[in-house]
Amino acid sequence: MQQKILSGCFISHCLIMYIQAFMLLAPLVSNSATDYSLWLQIILVSHVILATATALVLPFLLFVNIEENLQRLVNHDVLTRLLNRRGFFMQGEKLLKQGVAYQQSFSIVMIDIDYFKSVNDKYGHSTGDTAIKWIAQHIMAQLNDNDIAARIGGEEFALLLPDQSLNQAQVTAQKLCDAIRGHSLRFKGNTINLSISVGISSSYDANASIKTLLDQADKRLYIAKAKGRDQVVISDQQTDHVANGVM
Ligand code: GH3
Ligand code: MG
Ligand code: MG
Repeated sequence: MQQKILSGCFISHCLIMYIQAFMLLAPLVSNSATDYSLWLQIILVSHVILATATALVLPFLLFVNIEENLQRLVNHDVLTRLLNRRGFFMQGEKLLKQGVAYQQSFSIVMIDIDYFKSVNDKYGHSTGDTAIKWIAQHIMAQLNDNDIAARIGGEEFALLLPDQSLNQAQVTAQKLCDAIRGHSLRFKGNTINLSISVGISSSYDANASIKTLLDQADKRLYIAKAKGRDQVVISDQQTDHVANGVM
């Protein structure tokens, strides 16, 4: 958009320059007595207007560009390029207001990497960073167009899955769990096996608070941890039957 405005200014200025050159050269070439002075005056005024417009547009576009970059930085995580916590709340609330998310029901998913401290301890912090990026890529691979994914803490991620009921989100999360367990991260000669624990909450109410749903999903994530990790939990009950998401 910004480039289009700027290109428009430059192209129209360029055209006017060509027309001006033509009008200045035409009498010399054809020896005609046509009086172009009015047209040349119009062109001169156009020059001034276009030069001024371009001079104003340029800093304005620069400002818009900087603003957009700052917004991106403020709302995104540098390591994974996913949204950060702030971006998750902003985009999530926007999505809910637009109504995209509550055609039926939507779900919030909380993810935490299992025993991640030991990955850092054993392989070093930079390998730990690579593992976080690797998990983020697996998460992205499971998402649909309208889904939102964020890194909301050190090795914690949150998803907003519009139009996915609790059971549908459970299937998505279980696929993610299986994919991470089923692959190994190979980095600097090391083969690292990772797993995640997941808690999910869901709502039919478009006015439901993302914060409340996130807290509920977090509570279920802790149940998944307590029950041995590497699993999905969709209920607050600690019983085996429901808490491991088998339903
Ligand atoms: P649990 O299964 O209970 O989740 O065990 P855990 O070791 O994963 O425990 P916890 O989730 O509390 O640990 C988080 C660890 O993640 C602590 C910190 O060393 C590590 N961590 C947090 N942020 C980063 C980061 O940006 N890079 C790296 N490499 N490590 C991080
Ligand atoms: Mg954690
Ligand atoms: Mg952890």
